Amino acid sequence: MQLLEFARYCEQLEKISGRLEMIDLVAGVLPSLDDRELPLFVRFISGRIFPDWSPLKLGIGPNLLYDAITFVVDGTREDVIGEINRLGDVGLAVEKILTRKKIEGSGAGGRTGTATIQQSLFPQDFDLPAVFREFTAIAEAGGKSSQQAKLSHIQNLFQNITPLEGRYLARLLMEDLRIGMGEGNMRDAIARGFGVEPSLVEHAYQAINDLGEVAILARTGARALEDVHIRLFHPVKMMLAQQGTIGETIRDNGAVAAEFKYDGSRFQFHRSKDASGLYSRKLEDVTTALPDIIEALESATGHDVILDGEVIAVRDGKPLPFQTVLRRFRRKYGVESMREEIRLIPHVFDILYLDGETLIDLPLSERRAKLESAMNAHVAPQLVSDDPAEVETFYQQALDAGHEGIMLKVVASPYTPGVRGKNWIKIKPSVDTLDLAVIGADWGEGKRAHYFGSFLLACQDEQGDLTPLSKVATGFSDEQLGEVFDLLKDRVIASQGKEVSFEPGLVFEIGYSEIQKSPNYESGFALRFPRFIRIRDDKSVDEIETLDSVRERYRNQSK
Ligand code: AMP
Repeated sequence: MQLLEFARYCEQLEKISGRLEMIDLVAGVLPSLDDRELPLFVRFISGRIFPDWSPLKLGIGPNLLYDAITFVVDGTREDVIGEINRLGDVGLAVEKILTRKKIEGSGAGGRTGTATIQQSLFPQDFDLPAVFREFTAIAEAGGKSSQQAKLSHIQNLFQNITPLEGRYLARLLMEDLRIGMGEGNMRDAIARGFGVEPSLVEHAYQAINDLGEVAILARTGARALEDVHIRLFHPVKMMLAQQGTIGETIRDNGAVAAEFKYDGSRFQFHRSKDASGLYSRKLEDVTTALPDIIEALESATGHDVILDGEVIAVRDGKPLPFQTVLRRFRRKYGVESMREEIRLIPHVFDILYLDGETLIDLPLSERRAKLESAMNAHVAPQLVSDDPAEVETFYQQALDAGHEGIMLKVVASPYTPGVRGKNWIKIKPSVDTLDLAVIGADWGEGKRAHYFGSFLLACQDEQGDLTPLSKVATGFSDEQLGEVFDLLKDRVIASQGKEVSFEPGLVFEIGYSEIQKSPNYESGFALRFPRFIRIRDDKSVDEIETLDSVRERYRNQSK
C-alpha cells in the first residue's frame, strides 16, 4: 500500500463520525493487505508506529517537525508556526503549506520566487514498509548528531509527497492521527475483518502487546489467537487498579488478597538464563539505570520469569517519597554514585510467566503459589481474609509503616494487562487527587513571566479524546515551574496572546477539594481549589482519569 492510499483511507475515516461505519471501512481493507503491510497499516491507522512493547521511540518533538517542513518548502519557521497557530492542528497546517508551496512553485521551470519544494536527489516511492524504514532510522539515530540525522530522515519523507500525505504523515510523526481509530475500534475491526471474536483479539493483544501482530494471527484463525504466549523481553502492559472501599470489596467478593500499596515506581522484570530486563510502567527499558534491582531479583530466583512489582526507596527502614525513586529510574549517567545515595528495594506481587508457561489466565491464588515457589526473597507479603476488621488492621499497619495504603485483589481473577478493572482495588486515605493531561497554559506574570504560570488540564472521554476539566496555578515551587517549563517548551503547538496549547504528553497529579458541575469546561465539570501535587512522568496520557470516573466521583461526593 502506498502512503497516498493510506492517507486517502485516513481522510475517509476522518469524515466518518459513526463508530460502526469506521470499523466496517477498516475491516474491509485489512484482508487485502499482505503480511508486511498488515501490521503497519493496523498500527499507523491507530496512531502508533512501533509495537507497544518495543523500546524504539521516534524521539522527536514538534520543533524538529517544524524545522523539517521549513526546509522542505524553503520557507521560514515563523511562517510554518504561524500556520499551525492559525489552524490549531499540525496536520492541516502542513497540508496547507505544502499545497501553497506546490502551487507557487509550479510555474515555468518549477521555481518561482523563493518558495519552492526542495526536490530530493533520489525521488522515492513511499509504500508503508518504506515509510516504516524511515521511522525506524529516525528512532535508531543516536549519539551527538542524532537530531541532525533524525531531521534529514524527516525531510526525506516530506520531499516528494502530496499535501494530503503531508497531513497524515505530520500527525503520525506526532503519534496522534486524530481520526478516532483507537485501540477498541481497531480490535473490533480486526475481529470483523477476519471473522473472529473481539474477545479473542483483545486477549491476544494483552499477551503480545502489538495489534499489528495480532492482526496477522487473526488472519490465521481463532486457534492462533487462543494459542498466544507472552514473550520474554516483550513487556506487557501493567494491570491497573480502581479506587474502592474495604467494606464494599469484601461484600462483593468474599475473601480478598490484601497487600501493602507501596509508593514507589512500578516495574516489570524479565529474566532468561542469560539475560535480564527491567521495564518501567510506560514499558521503557530501565535495565541499565537500576543494576541493584537486577542483582536483587536475579539472586532471588533462578527461573525464567516475568515479574510484576513496585520499587521503593528506603532510608533507615522507612520508605522515601515516590519522587526519589523516579530520580533513579530517569538516571542515565553516574548510576553507581546514585545507587549509593538512594537505596532501592523491589517488592514483587505478581508473576506472569514461569519457565516457558504463560500464567496470566490463571487465578491470582494460583499465580501467587507459583510466585512463592519461584522466589526466595522480595515477595510482597499478602493477607487473604474476608474479615473487614482484620483487613482494616492490615491497612493501619501499612499506613504506620509509611506506605500509601493497601491493594485488595480478587483471588479468582486473571491478570489482565492494561486493564483498570474491579479486580484490583486501591485503598488509600485521601482519594481527592486526579491524574490529568496538561493541554495548555498561560504565560506567568512578574518574576514568573519567563515560565508558564497556569495550566489547562484534561481528562479523557469515552472515545479517548481529551476534554478540559480545570486549570491549575497553585502548588508549584519556583523550581517545579522551571522543571515543568523545560518539559513543555518543545511541546507547544499553538499560541495566541498569553495562551499556548501543547501536544499532550505530560501528566500532572492534581489535588482538589470538590468536583463541581460547570459550563466553563467542555467536560461539564470543574475542580474546586485545584493544586499541583506532582508530575506523573511514569504515566502516559492514555492512563489519565476518564470522564466516567470524574462523573462517578461527583456522584459519590454528592451522596
Ligand atoms: P495508582 O497509581 O494510584 O493508580 O495506584 C496503582 C499503582 O500502585 C500501581 O500501578 C503500582 O505502581 C502501585 N502499587 C503499589 N503496591 C502495589 C501492589 N501491592 N499491587 C499492585 N500495585 C501496587
